[in-house]
Amino acid sequence: MKTTKISNFEQLYKKLQKYIKNEEELEEIKKAYIFANEKHKGQKRISGENYIIHPLNVAYILSDIHADSKTIEAALLHDTIEDCDVTKEELETKFGQEVAKLVESITKINKLNFSGDNEAVIANQRKILVGMTEDVRVIILKLADRLHNMRTLWALSEKRQKANAKETLDIFTPIAHRLGINSIKSELEDLSLRYLKPDVYYQIVEKLNKTKVERDNYIVEMMNSVSKILNEHGLKHEIKGRSKSIYSIYKKLDKGKSFNEIYDLLALRVFVNTEAECYQVLGLIHSKFRPIPKRFKDYIAMPKTNMYQSLHTTVFGIDGQLFEIQIRTYEMDKVAENGIASHWSYKEGKSNMQNEMEQKLQFFRVIMELKNEETEEQFVDSVKEDVLKDSIYVFTPMGDVIELPKGSTPIDFAYRVHSKVGDTTIGAIVNNNIVPLDYQLQDNDIVKINTNKSSTPSKEWLNIVKTTQAKNKIKAFFNKTTKEDNHNKGEDLLNKELRKRKVTNTIFHDNIDKILEELKCADINELYINIGNNKFSPSQVVNIITDDNVTKEELILNKTKDKEVILPNVKNDIIVRGIDNVKVNIASCCKPIHGDRIVGYITKGYGITVHRMVCPNVSNLNERLIEVNWNEAITKKYPTSLLIKSLDNNILMEIVAKTSNTDITIQSIKSFSSGDDYIYQVTILVENKERLTKYMNDLRMIPNILSVERLIK
Ligand code: MN
Repeated sequence: MKTTKISNFEQLYKKLQKYIKNEEELEEIKKAYIFANEKHKGQKRISGENYIIHPLNVAYILSDIHADSKTIEAALLHDTIEDCDVTKEELETKFGQEVAKLVESITKINKLNFSGDNEAVIANQRKILVGMTEDVRVIILKLADRLHNMRTLWALSEKRQKANAKETLDIFTPIAHRLGINSIKSELEDLSLRYLKPDVYYQIVEKLNKTKVERDNYIVEMMNSVSKILNEHGLKHEIKGRSKSIYSIYKKLDKGKSFNEIYDLLALRVFVNTEAECYQVLGLIHSKFRPIPKRFKDYIAMPKTNMYQSLHTTVFGIDGQLFEIQIRTYEMDKVAENGIASHWSYKEGKSNMQNEMEQKLQFFRVIMELKNEETEEQFVDSVKEDVLKDSIYVFTPMGDVIELPKGSTPIDFAYRVHSKVGDTTIGAIVNNNIVPLDYQLQDNDIVKINTNKSSTPSKEWLNIVKTTQAKNKIKAFFNKTTKEDNHNKGEDLLNKELRKRKVTNTIFHDNIDKILEELKCADINELYINIGNNKFSPSQVVNIITDDNVTKEELILNKTKDKEVILPNVKNDIIVRGIDNVKVNIASCCKPIHGDRIVGYITKGYGITVHRMVCPNVSNLNERLIEVNWNEAITKKYPTSLLIKSLDNNILMEIVAKTSNTDITIQSIKSFSSGDDYIYQVTILVENKERLTKYMNDLRMIPNILSVERLIK
């Protein structure tokens, strides 16, 4: 049994000496411990232990996966900024920039509050957590921190136990899974289940205990039998009996299986030195014990996305009992247990290891992005699809393997490659033959997709495609608000407003020219579209007819009527779905103001920057974008900039004059000439878009003004 809990630095140090051979690095770690111990002196955890026990154990967990010395130092120091008023600068002077940055990042992550009840919100939170992290070591450190907190969860109240356990299952175990860090993931899962559903957990433990003797006997007998064949063929190997995690049994029971049906309760793992030997072992086992064909999986040729490699087979063993056998090399085992963390390497030099980890993290971010687009129902479907359906493997013309469910079409393939490829597919060539788009791909097909930049998906495809991913992407394409939709929406909104304000259709049409002129629309269709896409509000249009005859009270009523109800405790002026305390900054390039359609961009190591949707600086950064909304409960003024083109260099007074009787403040004005025109760059403080639009329209009424536009740098 490996030690899971330590109580002093010597135990950690002994463990570290086994794989960190550089004396200087060990000295630095010792220095970090002494510093942290000093700073945490007198602090206690709720469990009553000295606080330093926590960072010590977090470091110890990380030493299990051979974390590098900087990460170990950061683990020892990880709560000093938060709990001991140590500054980043102090850490930087004492332990260098790398360690200080790691500690700063973990402190930031620890300030995020995660809570959510639906899959979309939770996926969003995972995305923010991963997207904000620029160094994957921070996530690994966070997982170790969480693991030690889960091990000591007994000290908390039942309510907090349950909340922490839920958060662990929602946010952290999926991340550990995607990063392939199985050793941490499965312990987190078991601990979460124990606190979330203690009844179920202890029921399973009891059942396992009851059948343990019988199972152990079978396993020993089977191990001997397999070992004997392998020895006869001179294959050097090790065999271990494998116990299934409580959580994985729970998942199977939860899916409706009975305890007796879970046949991989009897499980072995065979270790050999080379990949070739893995297949040899498989052949020998199959020659003696009949395999169940459907249960064979070759994850060596086709590794899982989290890099997992192994051969899996289920055979009829001793007494006809089913045994699940996994065959892998020692190297593969390291990856299976530690995933991305198996890439700490002391031979290759750090830059190399960092680079490789960063690449994996990049890939991982993209996967997180995929999950985020799904609703809960879609999520369940795609999991079912992954787990229950048979897969085929097909190839790109470059020989890359792509795994798809049986029955997939070239369109599924195209969307799996990239959604751009999917959206622009016009035809497919399989094994050098042209095939229809509803062709069912076969194992080992080589698939080439023909695309045309201006082509778009057909709704018909929804009946053809097999994968949830392709279906979602096609639907997403059609859900994008089109002109047509905007037109209808705008017409609807305006008619509603007309009815509400008791303006008849005749009056409206009598005034249409006035409206079009004032709002600079070519025709009524353009007007509808601009209402549909929120450029004009319906009330703004009707105001033109009624000559602002609406009373102030009515205006206020209109404004408050349709507003969403926002939780009163949100302090930020911008709301990021399901998460608070995340740092939000307003982009200085496009200076959004309340009422603008906005989008968040997740900045590495920083927070979320909010841009206008039309800002060209965010158009190509899809995988780091996130939905954000204005907090309707907060009123404040935002700076934004206008570019005013004029024929006249004498209109400054008029620009300023148009702000009188409004609550718009001018912050700065710069003017310069360009050719025959004069350009004014005006930065103003304004409360919302409606007021800005009004001001811009007022400016446009000034003679000699050519154009008034918002500035985007
Ligand atoms: Mn901690």
